[in-house]
Amino acid sequence: MDQEGRLRRLQELLSRHRLDSLLITHLPNIRYLCGFSGSAGALLVSERATVFFTDARYTSQARQEVQGSKIVIGRKAPLVAAAAWMARNSNRRRDLRRPVVGIEGEYLTVAGRKRLATVLPSGFRLREAPPLIEQARMVKDAEEIGRLRAAVLLGASVFEVARGTIRPGVRESEIAAEIEHAARRAGAQDMSFPTIIAAGARSALPHGRASDQPIPAEGFVVCDFGVILAGYCSDMTRTVYVGRRTQEARRVYQAVRDAQQAAVNEVRPGIRVGEVDRTARKILRKSGLGPHFTHSTGHGVGLEIHEAPRLAAGQTEMLRPGMVITIEPGVYIPGKWGVRIEDVVVVTERGCEVLTPTSKDFIAVE
Ligand code: ZN
Ligand code: ZN
Repeated sequence: MDQEGRLRRLQELLSRHRLDSLLITHLPNIRYLCGFSGSAGALLVSERATVFFTDARYTSQARQEVQGSKIVIGRKAPLVAAAAWMARNSNRRRDLRRPVVGIEGEYLTVAGRKRLATVLPSGFRLREAPPLIEQARMVKDAEEIGRLRAAVLLGASVFEVARGTIRPGVRESEIAAEIEHAARRAGAQDMSFPTIIAAGARSALPHGRASDQPIPAEGFVVCDFGVILAGYCSDMTRTVYVGRRTQEARRVYQAVRDAQQAAVNEVRPGIRVGEVDRTARKILRKSGLGPHFTHSTGHGVGLEIHEAPRLAAGQTEMLRPGMVITIEPGVYIPGKWGVRIEDVVVVTERGCEVLTPTSKDFIAVE
């Protein structure tokens, strides 16, 4: 991975945002910039230097993984070690201004900020930095796309194994167990999020985590899950019908499928993400299902399961080649049923490529 290029590009942005340095505490951002995948670290980036702080548990891992940064193994928490380092290394004679340290407002806790302020000399100012790293992470390079593709393919292969276990009477948690077991056996590091298996009336809960409820004799089963492979997340949803198919079930399923396909067809460089969301919504509105589509159309996916951009009404971010997003419209009728179909899509120079290979045909298990 091109950690050095990423760090260099970030360093070039600092002065434009009037920051002397940026103190990064969000672990996925740290991983993106220096390669460290452990659970305790802080990364200090200034125009002149990049220093990674961790504790003694991670000495060998940091030496193995960290690229392009000096490594400091501290005795205290990484955040405090970073503040102490800044205090020691500030050069007051050369820089008479009060140095401005950018912090990640979305991630640094109030307690963490307080601790920083206590350790830093009074000359330092802390300022909430714009989401510079999140913006950089939106566009994936070829290596990241390769990892995402591998994660998506692994996820899809797991679904092929698990879908055979979906039948009336089987508990949702058993299907989740099949998926998670198959994923681990195939080499997944973890699941991207708690597996969603929501059957019957529970399928109307957009985030219905697998429960101990048995699959009823009739109705939809929403299966939404993802795997993590080489640090990158997959995310897919397929909805299976159990029981004798009714016209209404087919109609609702087809409407969601049409909305999903129409949104995928819109994905290309230069289009605003809000437009893609509008397209999916328009199709469902035509079928009278508009009010039942209660979440956004999709999200970026990468080192984290939910990243920028968010494909929602009014969002103006422009799609660019290399962005990897999900397209996942759904319809939820409370107390009755729900349907969602989700693919991962990469924006290409001319349009997009759907990475999820799984069929979207209506599947009925009788
Ligand atoms: Zn999902
Ligand atoms: Zn998703």
